[in-house]
Amino acid sequence: MRVSTAFNRLLQIPGATVTDVVIGDGQIEVHLRPRARLLHCPCGKHLRAVYDRRRRRWRHLDLAHARLWLVYDIRRINCPDCGVITEELPWARPGARHTRDFEDVVLWLAQRTDRTSVSTLMRCAWETVTAIINRGVTELLDQRRLQTLYRIGVDEICYRHPHHYLTIVGDHDTGTVIDIETGRSEQSLTNFYAAQPESSLAQIEAVSMDVSRAYTGATTAAVPHALICYDGFHIMQWVNRALDRVYAESIRLPGYATADWKAARWALRTGENKLTDDKRALVNHIARTNRRIGRAWTLKEQVRDLYRYDHEPGTARRLLKAWITAAKRSRIPAFVALGKRFTIYFEPILAAIELGISNALIEGINAKIRLINARGYGHHSAQTLSSMIYLCLGGLQVTLPTKT
Ligand SMILES: [Zn+2]
Repeated sequence: MRVSTAFNRLLQIPGATVTDVVIGDGQIEVHLRPRARLLHCPCGKHLRAVYDRRRRRWRHLDLAHARLWLVYDIRRINCPDCGVITEELPWARPGARHTRDFEDVVLWLAQRTDRTSVSTLMRCAWETVTAIINRGVTELLDQRRLQTLYRIGVDEICYRHPHHYLTIVGDHDTGTVIDIETGRSEQSLTNFYAAQPESSLAQIEAVSMDVSRAYTGATTAAVPHALICYDGFHIMQWVNRALDRVYAESIRLPGYATADWKAARWALRTGENKLTDDKRALVNHIARTNRRIGRAWTLKEQVRDLYRYDHEPGTARRLLKAWITAAKRSRIPAFVALGKRFTIYFEPILAAIELGISNALIEGINAKIRLINARGYGHHSAQTLSSMIYLCLGGLQVTLPTKT
């Protein structure tokens, strides 16, 4: 069997035939010629005339220890409609210096491991890996079909200190990142909404977020029909902080040394159903000794219960209103203030309770982003980090060339 025939069978390059194989020191050059004489312009026209040719090499997957290169005289055509353009090739992405197979392996690996490992294994430069990821993600995002968005969540992440933020938009139903915008301003989220077709915006039912004026403003303007849900975890933090303040302001309790202060504080913060017997005894003791703390603790548990149980329609609204009234009448300044705050944010707090939506999904995504950021040894540009986030968390499908 001739060497070129062997390589033809071995590589099976779509649309091309091997004409020559040059085996050098650790390198193999495989020369190709096109199988079809007609040239295809991306506009759909078929042309016979070649405008000019230029020799180009693409790095292909290694053959044992040897680096493998495809050599081909890439043709340009002069399309009457489009002007002079370079022909598109089935084995490589436009402008790429690596074959599609090579790039797909890089993308698949980059979804799973750090870039240094990828560049070592694939024997290419670190910058090459970055370039392949950026180009590949752009193509995969174009191909990605987003499901209808019903419930989305938005959060900010600081990817480089200080003041380098990204706004992350996630889909509650698929758990994937659907959009990344730079910054964390109202404009950042507005950019996301502006890029969505009207029909998609109309489908959005709920948007979860931390208590944020910027994201609330953008959401109210772009999707006024959607319910804004303020994350319950965030609200519970407010409540626990108020409880802390009441506890700290109170006179030291008789029978408890300063060392017990922290333990008591944590016992008070812990949800009632999660208390151990001795901690429950401690909470009971504190509540009996200090009525003010006891009252604050009950108010805290009432808010927890709002999130913990399913409610009949209308019940959550009634309970939340009753809670606000009780807080305002408690004569405990921290809880009076909290009652006022709850009045201001009543609807977004209630929506999260009624729909059972938290921002935990997005918080989880953010934790993964921090890992991606750490293993990349600092993605110095927002674009590179964004590409990595899309690649790993964007629901993008990378197909390995060996997978049939
Ligand atoms: Zn054309």
